[in-house]
Amino acid sequence: MTDLEEVLQNKMPSAAWVIDVEHSTVPMLNPAAERLLVGSLGQIQAGQRQIPLALKQKWQSRLSHSQKDQRFSCRWPFSSDPSQSYQCVGSTVQLADGRNGILLEVSSNAITQTPSSVPEKDMGLLRQFKTLSFAIFSLDGQFINASDFFLNHFGEVKHINYLFAVSSAAKSFMARVNGQSSLSQEIMLSTANGVRWHRIEASFDAELGQIYLLAHDIQEERDHEVALYRLNNYDSLTNLPNRNLLYQQLESALQNAKKRERQFGLMYLDLDGFKVVNDNFGHRVGDELIQRVAERIKSSIPAGACLYRLGGDEFVVVLENTNALSELEDIAQSIMQNASNTYPVAKMDMMISASIGIASYPQHADDVDNLLKNADAAMYRAKSTGHNLYFVYENQMADNINAHLTLGGGLRKAIENEEFELHYQPKVALPDENVVGAEALIRWNHPELGMVSPDKFIPLAEESGLILPLGEWVIRRACRQLQEWREQGYPALCLSVNLSSRQFMQADLVDMVQTILEETGVDPAYLELELTESMLMTDAKQSIEKLHSFRELGLTLSIDDFGTGYSSLSYLKKFPIQTLKIDRSFIHDIGIDGDNDAIVKATIAMAKSLNLKVIAEGVEHRSQVNALGGYDCQEVQGYLYSKPLPSADFVQFMQKQVGHESFSLVETGTL
Ligand code: C2E
Ligand code: MG
Ligand code: MG
Repeated sequence: MTDLEEVLQNKMPSAAWVIDVEHSTVPMLNPAAERLLVGSLGQIQAGQRQIPLALKQKWQSRLSHSQKDQRFSCRWPFSSDPSQSYQCVGSTVQLADGRNGILLEVSSNAITQTPSSVPEKDMGLLRQFKTLSFAIFSLDGQFINASDFFLNHFGEVKHINYLFAVSSAAKSFMARVNGQSSLSQEIMLSTANGVRWHRIEASFDAELGQIYLLAHDIQEERDHEVALYRLNNYDSLTNLPNRNLLYQQLESALQNAKKRERQFGLMYLDLDGFKVVNDNFGHRVGDELIQRVAERIKSSIPAGACLYRLGGDEFVVVLENTNALSELEDIAQSIMQNASNTYPVAKMDMMISASIGIASYPQHADDVDNLLKNADAAMYRAKSTGHNLYFVYENQMADNINAHLTLGGGLRKAIENEEFELHYQPKVALPDENVVGAEALIRWNHPELGMVSPDKFIPLAEESGLILPLGEWVIRRACRQLQEWREQGYPALCLSVNLSSRQFMQADLVDMVQTILEETGVDPAYLELELTESMLMTDAKQSIEKLHSFRELGLTLSIDDFGTGYSSLSYLKKFPIQTLKIDRSFIHDIGIDGDNDAIVKATIAMAKSLNLKVIAEGVEHRSQVNALGGYDCQEVQGYLYSKPLPSADFVQFMQKQVGHESFSLVETGTL
């Protein structure tokens, strides 16, 4: 009897046996093993007990992995029910001929389920749940069993590691599951249809050495959450983060900057004249332009800066971790340079510029709201100074904004309190330079702010709708003035009034003008309406009808600020207008810029061919009059002759005009 046999027979009371793996035989077993395991130890063939092939393969792999003298735990199938197994302790032993074999001994608490055989009745129960994704793995991650749904969903998973989309996630999962009896986690798993988010519930049975895994596919929930998140935090037109994310980033930038004693800054951008594009070409073209502009701005800012769309034509750029304001100014420069190049939109080359305001922490404000407000104030300053400019915030800018708000609030009261007045700027005919008419320009005599210019309050009046009563007041006041001058014996002058777009859209505008004409007794031939290109192009068809109605009343019609809008010259023919007023920006550069001269010259020639009178506004220098006269411009208006004057001053101005004695009413005694 060998030593091994001696030990087996006499020293091991529980079932013990030796496997000769290479020959698939059981060369030794003790009586306890004979009793307990005889069925599962294989059939006797040619005097040798042969183990099944599957078991041979399993033990071969075990033998090659285990070291001599190292004990390991394992299972051996029941003889009567192969789905059950005995818990065993095994070790590598040397057989008589020097080869390695395995000695197995059933440990005391032997009867247990084998991993490869979760009770069929349980698995059957689990399988009834058609959508239950359930699987069992051994503690070392080997696949043991799974529900059909699991197998369909994940495909063949030989090892738990294959389930995880990220290999480090598998590692940490195994580490965690080992340390606790159950865990729940949301994680990405590799399914037969690609990587998807799952909620997994795992439990660990220490006694059986098994991991039970329930996997619930939550990809749709996730997609929904992501869609909702995008909806709440991103602008759908440009795909840029929106106001919500802006506030979040600003709050976190503020905290970081405070903690690390660093600066950060932001710039507020607003496109110049975007409303004109929307009004003239519709929202679809406007939207496309916004998309192109957003792309352009994005490509003009450094990687560390983030661009947000606040809505409309407003954007914000945030730059964290900056050391100097000049960094922000450089970005503003780069945006302005790039943004003002042409955009190919709707088969046109469009141009649009941006006004930018800059504010930085901690220099200009130490909370998010004030930073935004101050950058906005700086932007507002840029816009009101001229277009395509940037301004860094300065203290008194906020006061301007406050004044802006006060203006808005006070506007309604101002109408009631009759704080408005009209000033008159003469129009002069070339070449004789006789005053032939005037433009009525509104002023607000504000109790605290003094004389406020229309550029400040007309936009507010438009926004609030107060432009309607205000516009009516202007027309009535202008007509009364004409009538007063006539009654006082002055020669007839043509007086023009400006209309705003909202006013032009007013349904009963024509009736209102007619009522005022009848009420004041003014000859309609002496009243001219100044309209802008964008007003007419918003709804060209309706505009044409309205203009015809005015013509039927006997009024004359003029296009103001000509050249700044987007109207097409061919379209102009369709509008029953009599006068084109060339915008002062063209007149300003006359004699300086050759291209500009060519435009003015061509506009005058074109107007002539359309039978329109041309007037140039903003004439400040004699050289401009000379050039315009040379191009055959019929009338001019500007500071060279006079600024807009209150009614009494206007009369005095007229009286002083050489060759206009007829206006010297002092002599006639009527003034
Ligand atoms: P607008 O109709 O183009 O009026 C011409 C503006 O140019 C006036 O500014 C006038 O004072 C200014 N101007 C005239 N000559 C010169 C010059 O030689 N050089 C320079 N630099 N400027 C000159 P104002 O009075 O401030 O009016 C601004 C705008 O406000 C007007 O532009 C008009 O669009 C609007 N507006 C004025 N009055 C009314 C009104 O009663 N109703 C409406 N809806 N808008 C008005
Ligand atoms: Mg005008
Ligand atoms: Mg004008």
